[in-house]
Amino acid sequence: MTSEPIIETSPKVADKVKFTTCYMCACRCGIKVHMRDGAIRYIEGNRDHPVNRGVLCAKGSAGIMKQLSPAKLRAPLVRVGARGAGEFREIGWDEALDMATAWLRPIRDSDPRKLAFFTGRDQAQALTSWWAGQFGTPNYATHGGFCSVNMAVGGLYSIGGSFWEFGEADWERTRCFVMFGVAEDHDSNPIKIGLGKLKSRGARFISVNPVRTGYSAIADEWIGIRPGTDGLFVFSLIRELLLADRIDFAYLVRYTNAHWLVIDSPGAPDHGLFARDESGRPLAWDATRKVLGGALDADITPALVGAYRLADGRAAIPAFELMAHRFLDPAYAPEAVAPRTGIAAATIRRIAAELAAVAFDQEIVIEQRWTDWAGREQTQMIGRPVSFHAMRGIAAHSNGLHTCRAIHVLQMLLGSIDCPGGFRYKPPFPRPVPPVRPPAGKSDEVVPGQPLPGSPLGFPRGPEDLLVDADGLALRIDKAYSWAAPLAAHGLMHTVIRNAWQGDPYPIDTLLLFMSNMSWNSAMNVQGTIDMLTDKDAASGEYRIPHIIYSDAFHSEMVAYADLILPDTTYLERYDCISLLDRPISRADAVGDSIRQPVIEPDRDVRPFQDVLLDLGARLGLPGMVDEEGAPQYPGGFPDYMVRHERAPGIGMLAGWRGADGTVSGCGEPNPDQLARYVEHQCFFQEELPADIQFFRYANRGYLDYAKRMGFIADNQQIVLEIYSEMFQKFRLAAEGHGLVQPPDELRERIVTCFDPLPLWYPPLEEQAIDQEAFPLHAVTQRPMAMYHSWDSQNAWQRQIHARNALYIHHQTAARLGVGDGDWIWVISHHGRVRASARLMDGVNPDTVWTWNAVGKRAGAWGLAEDAPEARKGFLLNHLISDLLPGDDTRRLSNSDPLTGQAAWYDLRVRIEKCTADEIAETAPRLAPLPPLPGARARPAVLRYGADFRSAPKSP
Ligand code: SF4
Repeated sequence: MTSEPIIETSPKVADKVKFTTCYMCACRCGIKVHMRDGAIRYIEGNRDHPVNRGVLCAKGSAGIMKQLSPAKLRAPLVRVGARGAGEFREIGWDEALDMATAWLRPIRDSDPRKLAFFTGRDQAQALTSWWAGQFGTPNYATHGGFCSVNMAVGGLYSIGGSFWEFGEADWERTRCFVMFGVAEDHDSNPIKIGLGKLKSRGARFISVNPVRTGYSAIADEWIGIRPGTDGLFVFSLIRELLLADRIDFAYLVRYTNAHWLVIDSPGAPDHGLFARDESGRPLAWDATRKVLGGALDADITPALVGAYRLADGRAAIPAFELMAHRFLDPAYAPEAVAPRTGIAAATIRRIAAELAAVAFDQEIVIEQRWTDWAGREQTQMIGRPVSFHAMRGIAAHSNGLHTCRAIHVLQMLLGSIDCPGGFRYKPPFPRPVPPVRPPAGKSDEVVPGQPLPGSPLGFPRGPEDLLVDADGLALRIDKAYSWAAPLAAHGLMHTVIRNAWQGDPYPIDTLLLFMSNMSWNSAMNVQGTIDMLTDKDAASGEYRIPHIIYSDAFHSEMVAYADLILPDTTYLERYDCISLLDRPISRADAVGDSIRQPVIEPDRDVRPFQDVLLDLGARLGLPGMVDEEGAPQYPGGFPDYMVRHERAPGIGMLAGWRGADGTVSGCGEPNPDQLARYVEHQCFFQEELPADIQFFRYANRGYLDYAKRMGFIADNQQIVLEIYSEMFQKFRLAAEGHGLVQPPDELRERIVTCFDPLPLWYPPLEEQAIDQEAFPLHAVTQRPMAMYHSWDSQNAWQRQIHARNALYIHHQTAARLGVGDGDWIWVISHHGRVRASARLMDGVNPDTVWTWNAVGKRAGAWGLAEDAPEARKGFLLNHLISDLLPGDDTRRLSNSDPLTGQAAWYDLRVRIEKCTADEIAETAPRLAPLPPLPGARARPAVLRYGADFRSAPKSP
């Protein structure tokens, strides 16, 4: 008799479960990590977590393989070969930190600007920016400068909030949701959950995107727009709404500056500014009393159109009239924009009518009492159930800021901001418009041995806040807040290497980079960047950038170009803080933040970068990082800082369980048990907002009082949304010759044009500068869902899904070019050429080609074999993207939005040529493989993850 096989139907999966926060992308989902025998067995989404409600994506699951990756850095490294050769020696932490201190101390004592500290997609910017400020360097920038700063600035200077992860559609009520471009990033799982809700309710989802992938694949309507023309499409929608008189005029008067009078006095130093009374309060024309009145007065019935006389006899025009004049221009008629956008005029008209019909004919009324900013009791909340979302797809163009502003104006005209069914802020937003905190780093604010008086990143309120010298030249190494990029609120990561190499505006000594692959997929002009990183001064024989310190958890392509490597832990091995000072996890109707806690001990000699920064700060004696005796202020490292550091009295990194007894939220003294409370509560804090303060928060008395109490805003005045930006006009006036701070002559015209107080559309700058017939196609990238926004996608599970990329081309375009599916082609831009394989598809704008970004890798990096498909067949479009605008002038400007400095990755234009029969079917250029690092673990030939989980069969 044969014995039956024993099947374990309910195996014991874990002996321990730990809660923490995912960090495989920027979305900050809650996870449960199942552990057995001290090892991670699997990762599950946390169903109680406000961000993901249990949803876990492919990236989140692949966190296990990240932990098991043989490409993890193992110990501090010092370069022993030439820069770029990838030859290193392992050293101990004391030697590494002594070396870093020895480089940094003399800089701080003589000229702190010589440290440039640039961070990638880290979620510790509340710490890293503070550290830079305490060091005293203005040269601090973050990933946003080449990601989506156009969205931040466009939103914060218009509505006091932004899409990003800082706002969301009212998923429960919206009936028409429009998403522009690639937008899956920071709010990945919440958007997935939200789209699921829309679909199940039968609400409409319209995707405006050159490529039908990702979320676009489930849209009810896909509008395959040409890249860089989203602004034109929005302009045309606004024109149609104005012509049809489908505008929420009551909303505009209550909540925006549409009725504020703008001085009409061409040539005068205050032309285009708001007319104000003696106390500086804006004026409007009271249409009932036929007199000038206070625009902020609650009882005024202001005029929105017309021309009026001010007390000094000059004319003034309501901002709305100027705005309407702009958008009613025949240049924005559907027939006029159709050829450029690739969207049929009838479609534009239909979408405009649909938006209006949903907003006004399907109005939502919630019987909810609330009090407005003027103290008036309201009995209802009226909603316009139309909502929008946009992110990198429109941001990564050199006209992205104005496109973002146009979308916000469209929302204002529909009355759909922070109302039921519309776009909703997530606390701590909204904030005052324009933002109130300028950047620090003026000439007299950078003092050897002293901290900056404020944060190196901020928001200029006019030319006087720029960081320029008396001649109008840049004070920062990346030229942020100079006339080349006046509103560069996140800095310009993509300019630092070139500028440091050129010594323009000055040489630096040390470049400290964190989590940023600046010699590969985070670089424009990859080979040029590598050349600059390795270039030596002919006279001294020293590298032009003398010291490069890099921190990362993995052997990325950037490691080879650093002199000192400070190896970071993985996100499962450390504490992190997802703070309201930085990237909170608030929902529209709840305030929230969260932490990560270590779930596993590192098996290597690595340390959390935040701990290392605080240690380095203590060694350098930076204020706030040492006590009065000079001992470390936070001997417990970052977790200690998370609990005890106060940015302002009572305001710390975490908002939950504050106060000595842990009963206070928001503002309260530090609680030594705070981290334990977070761990008890699954690593997150949430505080629901009462129903009466969930909407119209820019003008909701209850919410404004609450926000002030929580420390989100300094005062509880109404936040007025801006369809017209006086601040922009101040920059324009400066360029026209007014005021003490004026741009250099060569930038005057650009500033006059771009600092339009109303949204503007112009063709992307690269497009304006090249021969469009020679480069007829747009080229953009997206990231596949399995790697979306993930830092280090090279792990065994993700590689099984995407191990190579191809260039996707519309069938008709390919047929015209004689390119077949699978053919090898050259993709050529004004800057370079790359060889790739072609794939054909229908779901792409015919004038656009695209690929998955960052799948192509360099052999040797990430532990990849020489013949890895990523290195042989995959390719990197970055080789084609110039970091400078086309031209041969020595003063070429960066390939960026002219206002924010946002890297214009998606402005790329290319042509395609079929490879000849004798060319090999491999990508080019291929850089030489990097050697393994000391102590690198061997790659398993065959991966058998989980094989050792099986328990031995039990005897019956
Ligand atoms: S990878 Fe991103 S979206 Fe996926 S579970 Fe993690 S944080 Fe969430």
